[in-house]
Amino acid sequence: MRRGILTTIVACTTLVVTGCSAVATRDLASYKQDNAICYDRDTEPYTSVVDSHIHFRPFGGEAVPFEEVKQYFSKTGVLFANVYGIGQILPVDSDCTYYLNCPGTDALPSIKNDFINAANLVEFKSQGIQLTLSMTFPDLANPDGIVQTIELYDKEYPKMFRWLGEVNLIKQALLNNGHKAATKENIEQWTDFMRVLRERKIPINIHSDLGNDQEPTKYLELMEYVLELYPDNKIVWAHMGLSKELTKISAEDHIKIMQSFLDKSPNLMLDISWRVLYDNFFSKAKEKALYVTFFKKHSDRILPGTDFVASRDKTLKTYKDELEVVSRINQDLDDEAFRNIALGENYFRLLNMDYEAPQICQK
Ligand SMILES: [Zn+2]
Repeated sequence: MRRGILTTIVACTTLVVTGCSAVATRDLASYKQDNAICYDRDTEPYTSVVDSHIHFRPFGGEAVPFEEVKQYFSKTGVLFANVYGIGQILPVDSDCTYYLNCPGTDALPSIKNDFINAANLVEFKSQGIQLTLSMTFPDLANPDGIVQTIELYDKEYPKMFRWLGEVNLIKQALLNNGHKAATKENIEQWTDFMRVLRERKIPINIHSDLGNDQEPTKYLELMEYVLELYPDNKIVWAHMGLSKELTKISAEDHIKIMQSFLDKSPNLMLDISWRVLYDNFFSKAKEKALYVTFFKKHSDRILPGTDFVASRDKTLKTYKDELEVVSRINQDLDDEAFRNIALGENYFRLLNMDYEAPQICQK
């Protein structure tokens, strides 16, 4: 395996002499512990090598085939990814493929996509890419039976599921499709499955809107309660609570809230996936500067991702574009933050993986 990366580097070194401007994409071996080949930010990509938030399954309709999604990774330099199903699936007899186009139609969590992903993972070996399979079936407002379903997963696909989520605590966009926010009482009923996650050191990625443009902190207390009740779980907050419904909150206010959550909850990580964050915040100079400062300060608490949803209307170009857009902010990070976030160090540490991000080359 190591020979692979060395060959790549030697080949490029030859090219460097003759004026090579782009280094060949790295392979998994270059992320093995004690690998000494440094990462050259001038010539190697700024796009993240980790996609910690990607849905291999759509809400409904035809999916991009599993093998094709894997090709997207190999063509864009992504080496590590979570395999999410999706926390809301449309009924099998519905023609609808996007829940917002069909208010009134239920879009609820299900085991279907998790099983399809698990079956694909077994059938198609993943050479050269490290995939982490996730359980996306839990309905957080109806926690009864979650542990029993995990036991079913254990029986059918032992030890394969190493992540849970993205699951919806409150997702306002889904409220017209049968989704109900979990109540405080529901959150108290999570005890059993949260214990299983702790025992197995499995992180949980929770989508929990902070609020909306009318009431920016409308739902804040729900996440607060989760963190208060389950301080020892590895909790990842999807999109830092932002959404299409919450784009007008000031970056200062938002960062202040995130800061207080990080201070209070040492096991909390923030997921900065989804191009909606770029479009509404990171693409604006003033906001970007504030977030870059915040990410540098807490660079060991941030996880990158695309939030790509593999519905058949998407192609390699869609994935490539989304990855590039969500990665633009990486260019402004200092070396330590870049290594922690874009090169995967946080992800490896969170999952106790036998990988290590390369050091950044010093000039
Ligand atoms: Zn998502």
